[in-house]
Amino acid sequence: MFNIFLQPYQPFIKLYPLEMNKLNLKGLTLQELENYALSIGEKKFRGKQLFDWLYNKEATSFAEMSSIAKPFRDKLTENCIINSIEVIDIRESSDGTKKFLFELEDGKRIESVLIPPRTAFENPWAREEEDQKRLTLCVSTQVGCPLDCKFCATGSMGFLRNLTTGEIIDQILQVKKYTGKRISNLVYMGMGEPLLNYDRVMKSIEIITTGMNIAARRITVSTVGLVPEIRRMAEENRKNKLAISLHSLDDNIRTQLLPIAKKYGIEELINTVYYYYKKVKRRPTFEYILFDGLNDRSKDVQNLIKLSRRIPCKINIIPYHKVKSTQHLMINSMLRPTPKDRIERFVQKLRDAHISVFVRSSAGEDIDAACGQLVIKEERRKLKRNASIVKHSKVEIE
Ligand code: SAH
Repeated sequence: MFNIFLQPYQPFIKLYPLEMNKLNLKGLTLQELENYALSIGEKKFRGKQLFDWLYNKEATSFAEMSSIAKPFRDKLTENCIINSIEVIDIRESSDGTKKFLFELEDGKRIESVLIPPRTAFENPWAREEEDQKRLTLCVSTQVGCPLDCKFCATGSMGFLRNLTTGEIIDQILQVKKYTGKRISNLVYMGMGEPLLNYDRVMKSIEIITTGMNIAARRITVSTVGLVPEIRRMAEENRKNKLAISLHSLDDNIRTQLLPIAKKYGIEELINTVYYYYKKVKRRPTFEYILFDGLNDRSKDVQNLIKLSRRIPCKINIIPYHKVKSTQHLMINSMLRPTPKDRIERFVQKLRDAHISVFVRSSAGEDIDAACGQLVIKEERRKLKRNASIVKHSKVEIE
């Protein structure tokens, strides 16, 4: 009776029939776990114990939960499971960036990128000590993505499905387990559009901020610019940080790069971000990939300066990682990265106008760290080999 709002169990092909009707606890909030404990005749505080074991002590079985009474553990074993995603490949870049390739219960694949201190952003104002401690994980929110942004590897693979809350959370738990390190910052900038999976993304943030010791101000959700969802974030007074993939303030250019921009034009988007800023009182970040000759002209600098006069914000300049893409070869072959010296000049003009500008380093380029690249490469290789990879076996590293 109490658990009607718990996430419905989704049968995945890898499970044995006996486990099909069990409730997956990973991905449930504190309140949901407390309600579950009550619904099976246990005390409410058992829910809190479970919450700590799952997210803080990173338990993967009920047997490990030594502070929980044996009869309750037996009940849990009978009725519940703790699903995990499986690490099938880890690649380390020369700069220390690590890319994790995961296989989900249904065999689909996603990736997360762990960005070491100092390489996440080139930030002239960062305090040395804080910078040293920062370990940022970039997480995925969907398998593939329906938005088809013309420069993005994930876009070219189409949309397969949303991740569950448990799968989003598990990327952090697995990376912590493998590296033994505490993750201090999270960016929802991996595969997918987080705001198209709004409820599960926000639920994952609730669990992370209450159970995993990462404050909301250290969590950034990046969106292509979905107006209704940004408005919803403002109305719900969400305290995580917001980043908008802007890439141009010219509707013509933006629609060429991001098809969704036909639905939400610049004016509507900027008005909504302004509303968000006024309501939540957090400075948004505008992300801006620099493409040679397309959005790196002086007119574009002036547009960004004007924008930052209207909305106090940060600007995050991203060097373009050229990706091989099958679906939109035409536009993709026309997109070229702005050369380094011109990136520097572009950034300097913005800084001269007293704007906080960060330049994302090209960390991890040698391991295909841009959004979705590794999964696609692995899928292509899988097709080429035309042989089934034995499940659970490690994918060989080049
Ligand atoms: N859908 C969300 C989050 C995923 S993409 C969004 O659009 O914001 C995360 C960031 O990586 C976005 O700013 C996106 O524009 C950028 N990105 C994607 N592909 C890239 C590439 N090939 N080179 C550089 N940045 C890229």
